[in-house]
Amino acid sequence: MDIKLLQSSFDDDGSASDRQHTACFVVNGKVAFDAGSLAMAVGADRENIRDVVLSHTHLDHIAGLPLFVDDLFSTLRAPVLVHAAKPMIAALRAHIFNDIIYPNFEEIENEFGAVLEFQEYEFGREFTVSGLSILPVEVNHNEPSAGFIIRDETGSILLTGDTADTVEIWDAAADVTQLRAVFVECAFPDGMAELAATARHLTPFGLKEEIAKLKGRDLPIYIVNIKPMFREQVIAEIKALDLPDVFIFPIGRTISI
Ligand SMILES: [Zn+2]
Repeated sequence: MDIKLLQSSFDDDGSASDRQHTACFVVNGKVAFDAGSLAMAVGADRENIRDVVLSHTHLDHIAGLPLFVDDLFSTLRAPVLVHAAKPMIAALRAHIFNDIIYPNFEEIENEFGAVLEFQEYEFGREFTVSGLSILPVEVNHNEPSAGFIIRDETGSILLTGDTADTVEIWDAAADVTQLRAVFVECAFPDGMAELAATARHLTPFGLKEEIAKLKGRDLPIYIVNIKPMFREQVIAEIKALDLPDVFIFPIGRTISI
């Protein structure tokens, strides 16, 4: 399985920055998980991605979605399918695609027909999208929020999405035989544990407790969603924990798992 965390900002010399402001993972070049910088950083995969799976509706996870549909508007021969839980769809209709913040792309068709269609998923019920089987599991963040267990013919990965300490997705992972990698968020340094708890994110200390819920399974654990302003500090604190098989996931590069 190929997975890429799209870049979301630039360094002073114009090259892609390793600071993650937004979240958008592209799997197998075809399915986007969240859409933070989807329109801005997707590159050639723009022509292949027609399914976007949302973990929740925080801005850093959806900012690139309206722009992505807008970019493709005149060329789409089938709608972009946005897979989300029912309250997420309601939020997007009310607050984004409302003809105030952005056009209601559910209503506006191009010459071939609809350009945006919402498809509802249910927590705990696996669905299939473009060669991937996806199990959304509710996690402890903005309500509701999902993590995902994503499977193709080569095996599975687990993506926590944004979350504080959580249980269900680790329980679900225990049933996955060919789990090849886990992607866990770690937004804030330990010194900001109070804010992390309020915003329902992890710090390195919490990360260690979440990883322990894998019960010693031997697989790589990639850290994502580090707040850019605390990136160096969070990475230093994670390294100090000296946890085996824990890596900071690179931004803007496709990794084959
Ligand atoms: Zn969030």
